[in-house]
Amino acid sequence: MTDREAMPRQEPKIRVTNFKEVALGYSEEQAVREASRCIQCKKPLCIEGCPVEIDIPKFIKEIRDSNFSQAITTLKEKNNLPGICGRVCPQEGQCEKTCILAKKGEPVAIGRLERFAADWELKNDEVVASRRRSNPTKSLREPITSARGNLMEQRVAVVGSGPAGLTCAADLAKLGYAVTIFESLHLPGGVLSYGIPEFRLPKKIVKEEIASIKDLGVRIKTDVVLGKTFTIKELFSQGFAAIFIGTGAGLPMFLGIEGEWLNRVYSANEFLLRTNLMKSYLFPEYETPLNIGKNVAVIGGGNVAMDSARAALRLGAAVIVFYRRSEKEMPARREEYENAREEGIEFHFLVAPVEILGDEKNWVKGMKVIKMKLGSSDSSGRARPVPVKGSEFYLPVDTVVIAIGQRPNPLVPQSSPGLKTGRIGNIIADEETGETNIEGLFAGGDIATGAATVISAMGAGKRAARAIDRYCQKGEKEWQKKR
Ligand code: FAD
Ligand code: SF4
Repeated sequence: MTDREAMPRQEPKIRVTNFKEVALGYSEEQAVREASRCIQCKKPLCIEGCPVEIDIPKFIKEIRDSNFSQAITTLKEKNNLPGICGRVCPQEGQCEKTCILAKKGEPVAIGRLERFAADWELKNDEVVASRRRSNPTKSLREPITSARGNLMEQRVAVVGSGPAGLTCAADLAKLGYAVTIFESLHLPGGVLSYGIPEFRLPKKIVKEEIASIKDLGVRIKTDVVLGKTFTIKELFSQGFAAIFIGTGAGLPMFLGIEGEWLNRVYSANEFLLRTNLMKSYLFPEYETPLNIGKNVAVIGGGNVAMDSARAALRLGAAVIVFYRRSEKEMPARREEYENAREEGIEFHFLVAPVEILGDEKNWVKGMKVIKMKLGSSDSSGRARPVPVKGSEFYLPVDTVVIAIGQRPNPLVPQSSPGLKTGRIGNIIADEETGETNIEGLFAGGDIATGAATVISAMGAGKRAARAIDRYCQKGEKEWQKKR
């Protein structure tokens, strides 16, 4: 078995001085070589590991044969966001984990090949242009007359433009529905636009992939907030046949310790939103600087903590990440953790903050932390961190970024009377169909599961689109019988 092709990357010393993408992508020669490692299994296990069911061996074979245009067409049959997924999906736990080559060595670099095909399309403008010219709003099937009339006249509303909403909208548009997305921010994309930083996911890629969804005929209305500027009841009364809610998990969790209210304590959400959407790193071009001082502490061990730490580093600070469990339990993608280490970020494991201290003007000046040890497993199966008595110590810091998780925003459930919610304020939705307890209302992605991944949100959007299609064809009465 030949070795997996290495991903060309910016050198650590250089990349910490800019916000440009770290991973540079395969060349055509590298992509063809990597694709040639695939043995084209008769029963490909990789597909089973893909939540959006991409025909992985097919697109890889097309790359191997240098038929890049066909490879991107194959990918887009199932995945409307290939350039995004190729960059941020945790393939090591999905398709690449189940790839047969992983049994004896390194799996085929499926994610990197997916990214290659998507980037190739963007670099070859003519391909993109011809796709846009080819009757973008054409449905994939003939008009169907159903119990509810002509499907082509049916309107579906999607609330939230993150990966769940975008996927649901694209799949419904491909089936011929007239879809409108309602988004509260001024830009679509959800976490892809405001959360994941430029150096991991360039916004040009997000914009282009959203543009290709618009090409399918999807309309996107921004600056409209479900629960404030409109309600679910109003959408139904405006004639939308069905509604999909994909409003994500944007409510940051806090530590509940003394001093969290001090100046320069940020939730990771606010910190990253100021960096990505308000472009604080482009000061003075953008008049929205982030004043973080010289020493930044980031609390947490997931992808959000890694993104915050690496963004703070690029803004010029020295950064320490504090995680209350050990390195082994860190939920961040291994690749991102290794990138962070290479860049010079320090990690303190088995340490948790107990108090944030401020100066006389209420600016952060330091943090009191305590050592932890691992105890018995908790409900998630991970070892429970237990404080070590008398082990507290003090560290001077200028900024604290709290990245310990997000929960579903309560606005939508609170403003939708009768909608059933779960323990963490998530909307209760059927895993297979996205149905909620309200007729015609579907939900999926982080708003239903709590904070998860891009591809799981996309999978939920896809399954809900299929269910909405069945719902619209059957009409309410028959749908009720099925339930
Ligand atoms: P979101 O992406 O959160 O989108 C929800 C959208 O709904 C937003 O645009 C929001 O503005 C809008 N909205 C909210 N409320 C309303 C309302 N009331 N009315 C109208 N619109 C509303 N996952 C990975 O797979 N790989 C990674 O590397 C990764 N890194 C991450 C890094 C960060 C910093 C964060 C925060 C998350 C990361 N994730 C990663 C997780 C992943 O991004 C999410 O699981 C995914 O985006 C969830 O998709 P979604 O569509 O459910 O919600
Ligand atoms: Fe190729 Fe691996 Fe899928 Fe087999 S499991 S078809 S080797 S990518």
